[in-house]
Amino acid sequence: MRITGKTQLVGVIGYPVSHTLSPAMHNAAIAELGLDWVYAPFPVAPDRLPEAVRGLQAVGARGFNATIPHKESLLPLLDEVSGEAAFIGAVNTVLFHEDGRSIGYNTDAEGFLRAMDESGIAPPAGEKAAVMGAGGAARAVAAALAKAKARKIVIVNRTFEKAEALAAEADAAIGVSARAEPLTEAGIASALDGTALLVNATSAGMDGSAGLPIDADALRPPLAVYDIVYSPPQTGLLKTAAQNGCKTLNGLGMLTHQGAIALERWTGLKAPVETMRQALLAAL
Ligand code: NAP
Repeated sequence: MRITGKTQLVGVIGYPVSHTLSPAMHNAAIAELGLDWVYAPFPVAPDRLPEAVRGLQAVGARGFNATIPHKESLLPLLDEVSGEAAFIGAVNTVLFHEDGRSIGYNTDAEGFLRAMDESGIAPPAGEKAAVMGAGGAARAVAAALAKAKARKIVIVNRTFEKAEALAAEADAAIGVSARAEPLTEAGIASALDGTALLVNATSAGMDGSAGLPIDADALRPPLAVYDIVYSPPQTGLLKTAAQNGCKTLNGLGMLTHQGAIALERWTGLKAPVETMRQALLAAL
């Protein structure tokens, strides 16, 4: 990498940020595109977030990604926030427009759909889908399923009140018929009844943690199973579903595409998705 007087800065803010895979993914893409750009990690303590946003804009950064704990707190600090980011309640990509505006996006929902597209699993247009989880990722998945014109979504969550709140909001704000179920045997059975797609948007199963309490017999074709966890690449849920003959997809494609969409917002160029995926795999 060569830094020149014209090098364009982008990066990621988080706290801590040392675990982030984004610099590996974005710098590989920048090299592939032959751009005089650099993507750097910035540890930003929560109480210094407003300063950091102003500072990045002041030094001429094109934009930045945000990770935990800044994705929610960024919203009121920006000049504009996309409708999707407002519904999700989190911004993961900021663009500093040439006219001085700071614009916040959330690229997870679109990343979720692009990854589905390339996997050969059809988006559940006109179908019922079940979403496990009611956190930030589940909100992005609900937005994606609404975009994909799902007929109905069922939100299943350990903390039932959060599932109820998200279902009510999805129904009202993004025009998808939604209801909630608790994470119980009966709740899961009802959510999976006649369902085309099951999405795990909880952190259960991540890094070797216990998976969701879903009976192996409930995972049968034509149900497709999409686990947005990417580490490990094959969670217990995906393994069982694949053994039963279901189509399966992990979260690596979503992670790659949410980054690719951010890079496209900043550069206006088509992102080299395969290069980004390989860089991510190497970094994982
Ligand atoms: P979050 O806001 O903290 O929400 C966590 C969700 O997981 C909540 O619904 C929580 O239920 C549920 N949960 C946690 N542990 C559980 C367990 N043992 N059993 C059942 N439910 C459990 O986190 P998030 O940002 O939504 O992220 C969730 C997962 O998505 C993470 O694994 C993250 O890595 C993954 N993710 C992947 C991508 C991608 O690009 N592939 C993007 C974003 C997120 P309660 O409400 O009951 O606590």
